[in-house]
Amino acid sequence: MAKQEDDFKKVISHAKEYGYVFQSSEIYDGLSAVYDYAQNGAELKKNIREYWWKAMVNLNENIVGIDAAIFMHPTTWKASGHVDAFNDPLIDNKDSKKRYRADVLIEDYVAKIEAKIEKEVAKASKRFGDTFDKKQFLATNQRVVEYQEKADAILKRMGKSLENEDLADVKSLIEELDIACPMSGSKNWTDVKQFNLMFGTKLGASAESAMDLYLRPETAQGIFVNFLNVQKTGRMKIPFGIAQTGKAFRNEIVARQFIFRMREFEQMEMQFFIRPGTQKEWYEKWKENRLKWHLSLGMGEENYRFHDHEKLAHYADAAADIEFRFPFGFKELEGIHSRTDFDLSQHEKFSGKKLQYFDPELKESYVPYVVETSIGLDRMFLAVFSNSLQEEELENNTTRTVLKLPAVLAPTKAAVLPLVKKDGLPDVAHKIIEDLKWDFNVIYDEKDAVGRRYRRQDAAGTPFCITVDHQSLEDQTVTIRHRDTMEQHRVAISEVKSIIHKEVDMRSWLQRMG
Ligand code: ATP
Repeated sequence: MAKQEDDFKKVISHAKEYGYVFQSSEIYDGLSAVYDYAQNGAELKKNIREYWWKAMVNLNENIVGIDAAIFMHPTTWKASGHVDAFNDPLIDNKDSKKRYRADVLIEDYVAKIEAKIEKEVAKASKRFGDTFDKKQFLATNQRVVEYQEKADAILKRMGKSLENEDLADVKSLIEELDIACPMSGSKNWTDVKQFNLMFGTKLGASAESAMDLYLRPETAQGIFVNFLNVQKTGRMKIPFGIAQTGKAFRNEIVARQFIFRMREFEQMEMQFFIRPGTQKEWYEKWKENRLKWHLSLGMGEENYRFHDHEKLAHYADAAADIEFRFPFGFKELEGIHSRTDFDLSQHEKFSGKKLQYFDPELKESYVPYVVETSIGLDRMFLAVFSNSLQEEELENNTTRTVLKLPAVLAPTKAAVLPLVKKDGLPDVAHKIIEDLKWDFNVIYDEKDAVGRRYRRQDAAGTPFCITVDHQSLEDQTVTIRHRDTMEQHRVAISEVKSIIHKEVDMRSWLQRMG
């Protein structure tokens, strides 16, 4: 645990030191769970957004993208169920005065049991070597089976209690499991209460005419209310999707995990409208497709897993998370939800407008079903950033800190470095930048010895360093250094663009999705 915390602290301080993420309003001591993206962070975030948009919108003929407003008519949130049901169960510790999400306390307890299972697996795998059969071990090892049964039973009971709004039982469960406040070790808990996560605000200048509004807690509803507009004006035929990226706001009860859980964050969501009855098939397809998108970034298959929901949200008939191994363990990165016709039917009911589709093949009208994919851009940022940050032991017994961002996402693709600040080398470097800047985000760096500049670019995540030296003046060549391998090659200046292009081109990265 201590190592995990230490690693996570390193991630946070590296994000600040290298201009990725700052605390919001830091000069006023910050604002809890609100963050600003700095010069490099803004580029990385934009590149992740683009990677998603390309894969979801541009590469799918039947998916279009929109950009709906953050403010929506307040009835939207009555129809969607958010006014009545967008709650989290909270519990306070009477001694430490710390507030927690009751479900998260229980899930963390279960995660500890799961960690024990993983430990047993690791031990057995070491003992049996090549002959180790993980599946069989999980199914037959008495201790592991008991652990798993216990974990399943806890989650099942919690799911049921939450579904039935039986908050007293959620508290009983916490007490029976002997869960203590992680801060103080105290087990002196209050009752569990529901807490609505939406932020309220007002629209309009005068107090009498002002209208109560909410800041949207998800982007999805902006898609649902525009369903018919897009379908008609885009002449879309079912099945088709509407995607969008944008800010969402939630008054999270506990927000102590950097950009993993923020009060203002960005979502990338896609609602796929389908014929009723085909939801199972599309749900499975989108689960598979979204996992492929993640895997295309090459961040290690072992770092992802699916988690099927026990407790389904009020709108869903099936739901799964893609979980990622964050520095603090496996946690939700993306959700894939089969939302039935819940949202469109509710908006029909509350608006009095028909939100139906005439299916020319079936020759009938219906309210389409929906499968949704929903990922937090900031969470994706954290996944990419934390996974990329590595300390490497080098052959000469030194270490280097390197941010091995997938090159397609790196904020700066290349740094151009004149070996010395004289003899006309800076001019050549600037000329190279003049040419490259139309295609890539590149920077110029002439300060410090070149070795230190390499280290600085490694830590900032820049995939290439291009060094201009005296030989460059004679034969129009430079050295190009690769961040990950630290290999250097001498190449013609005229070749540099195509070398970078080959490594950072979105097409080749996304084609890995197959
Ligand atoms: P959690 O269980 O972690 O609170 P959720 O199940 O409420 O998340 P969804 O409503 O399914 O999340 O939202 C879809 C995605 O939006 C999540 O998978 C996550 O990546 C992102 N997300 C949700 N809440 C936050 C937040 N407070 N900060 C950053 N990202 C978030």
